[in-house]
Amino acid sequence: MECVLRTQDLTKRYGKNLAVNKVSLTIEKGDIFGFIGANGAGKTTFMRMVCGLIYPTEGSLELFGASSAKELPKMRRKMGALIEHPAVYPNLSALQNLEIQRRYLDVDFGKDPEKTLMELLELVGLGEAADKKASKFSLGMRQRLGLAIALVGNPQFLILDEPTIGLDPIGVMELRELVRKLNRERGITILFSSHNLAEMAQVATKYGFMNKGKLLEVISAEEVQKLCEERGINLETYFVELLMKNR
Ligand code: ATP
Repeated sequence: MECVLRTQDLTKRYGKNLAVNKVSLTIEKGDIFGFIGANGAGKTTFMRMVCGLIYPTEGSLELFGASSAKELPKMRRKMGALIEHPAVYPNLSALQNLEIQRRYLDVDFGKDPEKTLMELLELVGLGEAADKKASKFSLGMRQRLGLAIALVGNPQFLILDEPTIGLDPIGVMELRELVRKLNRERGITILFSSHNLAEMAQVATKYGFMNKGKLLEVISAEEVQKLCEERGINLETYFVELLMKNR
């Protein structure tokens, strides 16, 4: 199986605080990996290291089979990420924001780049807001725009940090569908984080449960579903029990 991401003892320390503590995990091509953990568990910090936004204190990181300082930036061009607040230009429209990203990444969309960018906006549900200034967007619309920006480079690996923030229940449902679609139709491997298990429960193929910087367990969706059914509990209870065991 092809590995998209492999970390070994990846660690980030802020003073005495171990934000990420020796996390070793593997994400295989085709996975929809759900990173689950309470606030402050270290999910964002982990993702920031994967994206090269911060340096690890210790440990190693391999992306698409490459781990050297020279190769990692090239591999990161195959990734798209939506981490924390999407960086959008408030005075520009949604479409203009995408065009800026296209030029920045130097992506060739042929003769009519606008058409492809419009398709992207439609995909994330912003087709009708293409010419609206980003400053007029709601939080949910900003998230959608952030997702479209993350997709401009045609990524093979997509990282979404708390993508449901700001979305209403219909938006959450649409996002789940979109994640599935991107995975199924475009073969994109996805790593997303969430502290709301119920919201993203049906979409992940694997879960990584995190708490206080540590990765407690990685389990396939099938396996955890079977365990939950056998015991008549839901995923949330499973996670809470795991937390209690590891206290
Ligand atoms: P959330 O869901 O709230 O985003 P999270 O799981 O993403 O939580 P992180 O944001 O990665 O968690 O934070 C993990 C820990 O690292 C927290 O204790 C946080 O206070 C700390 N931390 C994160 N960034 C920094 C920083 N730049 N300086 C100091 N401490 C930090």
